[in-house]
Amino acid sequence: MKIVLLGAPGAGKGTQAKKLIDKYGIPQISTGDILRQAVADQTQLGKEAKSYMDSGGLVPDSVVIGLVKERLSQADCKKGFILDGFPRNTAQAETLDGVLASVGMPLEVALSVDVDFDVLLKRLTGRRTCKSKDCGQMYNVYFSASKKDGVCDKCGTELYQRDDDKEETIKKRLDVYKAQTEPLIDYYTKKGILKRVEGVGDINEIFNKICSILK
Ligand code: AMP
Repeated sequence: MKIVLLGAPGAGKGTQAKKLIDKYGIPQISTGDILRQAVADQTQLGKEAKSYMDSGGLVPDSVVIGLVKERLSQADCKKGFILDGFPRNTAQAETLDGVLASVGMPLEVALSVDVDFDVLLKRLTGRRTCKSKDCGQMYNVYFSASKKDGVCDKCGTELYQRDDDKEETIKKRLDVYKAQTEPLIDYYTKKGILKRVEGVGDINEIFNKICSILK
């Protein structure tokens, strides 16, 4: 299965992607996760990407497209993949189509996870993640707080707030989404592969809806 997950920051793409990995046994390719790892490792790529990410803007297409091409060429993507956070604009979508066409693996579904902006704001400002790379459990101080403030229920490691989940950056990220990423809804509608799911409510119920769509 070759899927693109669309949706504003905080729509729950990452959460649903992780569940899809377990069900379908295909990898999630999250450009945001790859970039955050590069920033944490202080690689050249990370240094280049950091200022764009901290400001809530998009990292240049040339950088992100290179990353995705490299990742898609790896053996575990042969059976399929879940792209999460890519493409983010029309140029990226067109490049992706070209890359996939050249290897004979066209996209099958672009799934948009739809959530109102006021809910997104709470989700993003409240989001906390476990610092342990092996755990990575996510919480939300408004909707699903850890039992002890700032500490992971699962492994006891400290929780952190992503730099780009700070209030001033969030507004910019949502503006960028509206201006650059939302047009992809039309792009994939025209290609006849757009599906939509309401991303509000119980995580498992949303996942079940996604599974019926993907059937
Ligand atoms: P995310 O975790 O998907 O919300 O991504 C976090 C940040 O990484 C974004 O705000 C961008 O700065 C950068 N980023 C992630 N994916 C892309 C992409 N496809 N194109 C450009 N920048 C990206």
